[in-house]
Amino acid sequence: WGPYQLTIRDGQRWSAARAYLHPAMSRPNLTCLTGARTTRIIVENGRATGVEYVDDKTKTKQVVNADKEVLLSAGAVQSPHILQLSGIGDPEELAKFGIPVVKALKGVGANLQDHLDVTMSWECPQPITAFSLRKGIVKTLMIGMNYAFFGKGMGRQQFLESGAFLKSRPDLDRPDLQVHCVLAVMQDHGKVSVAKDGFTFHVCQLRPESRGRVGLNSADPFADPAIFANYLATDEDRRAMREGVRMMRHVASQAALDAYRSEELFPGKDVETDEQIDAWIRKHAETIYHPVGTCKMGAASDEMAVVDGELKVRGIEGLRVIDASVMPTLVGGNTNAPTIMIAEKAADMLRGRAALPAEDVAVFEDGQKAA
Ligand SMILES: Cc1cc2nc3c(=O)[nH]c(=O)nc-3n(C[C@H](O)[C@H](O)[C@H](O)COP(=O)(O)OP(=O)(O)OC[C@H]3O[C@@H](n4cnc5c(N)ncnc54)[C@H](O)[C@@H]3O)c2cc1C
Repeated sequence: WGPYQLTIRDGQRWSAARAYLHPAMSRPNLTCLTGARTTRIIVENGRATGVEYVDDKTKTKQVVNADKEVLLSAGAVQSPHILQLSGIGDPEELAKFGIPVVKALKGVGANLQDHLDVTMSWECPQPITAFSLRKGIVKTLMIGMNYAFFGKGMGRQQFLESGAFLKSRPDLDRPDLQVHCVLAVMQDHGKVSVAKDGFTFHVCQLRPESRGRVGLNSADPFADPAIFANYLATDEDRRAMREGVRMMRHVASQAALDAYRSEELFPGKDVETDEQIDAWIRKHAETIYHPVGTCKMGAASDEMAVVDGELKVRGIEGLRVIDASVMPTLVGGNTNAPTIMIAEKAADMLRGRAALPAEDVAVFEDGQKAA
């Protein structure tokens, strides 16, 4: 258990765009187009020579030619989708929508993995959580002004500051559950506001066995891709999530929380048996937005590998994928920092920089610092 590291600077959320792109915007060799939807990668004689996109304002098709390489970084849903629209993918999938095969790569869109999450909430008998702290227009305004003028107060907080990595079985060699603690009653990704003081434990399974896929719904690049998440497809995944629910109840029942915990709101006392917990998870589980794996990196011998160790798309010259989709397996934690790491590593490779020497990073197991 402990506080999380956050991508925050000077009290403000610091996106990858703010950290990396904005400082480079004035460079003469950079043009950044927004409102431009990439519809296809152009491949000629086995080489990616450019990108086709549609300008949002003019609704016209445009082409950008690549002197050197095309780098695809559209995320774990859109990167495989764009490849498929470009004729790079599983021939069977492409044939369903009449897309001519440019390069047969069965792994495009396969191997989808995500962190499935449930939120469990308890009411708090004291007016000390988000609901009371920002109740009413005056308090909300004060919070906003305190933050805007002095960079202080609750406006700096993001309510999701601590958590835990836990093992759902003692025989595991590493945690398979992650907890995010929230100082509010969370419902439907925070979209539903609950007029009660309370706290929430998010619990998600870190290393799911289930695999989904991203496919096509249509050859129209503006049609949404078909996403088959395939969550909870194995006994182990169902067991781990169920155990996560039981473990969070155990944590919430500790004497140290007596003064802060009253009624269990979700799942609630009617959800007790394995069957009831499984059914509740099936009904209420949500993504915690960590899809990866749909253009996985792998060895040449792996027919499902989409990119090689340099993130180059197999069998196409001048095309790399650089985003969360290249992870062969889901990391055991949040995916933003690992994706930034992949991008930094890719930037080094593009610039021909030598790999950094391997580091012996200490890991912690059962409270002991291990080499
Ligand atoms: C709501 C939410 C909350 C999250 N919270 C956290 C968190 O707290 N901590 C954490 O570690 N991770 C978090 N994540 C996950 C993290 O944001 C992702 O793992 C990470 O952004 C993945 O980076 P990426 O480059 O693969 O894809 P993305 O960041 O999704 O980047 C892909 C980009 O491509 C663009 N794009 C896609 N298709 C096209 C197209 N056809 N044409 C033009 N542009 C296109 C998209 O607009 C987007 O800008 C969260 C994700 C979401 C959605």
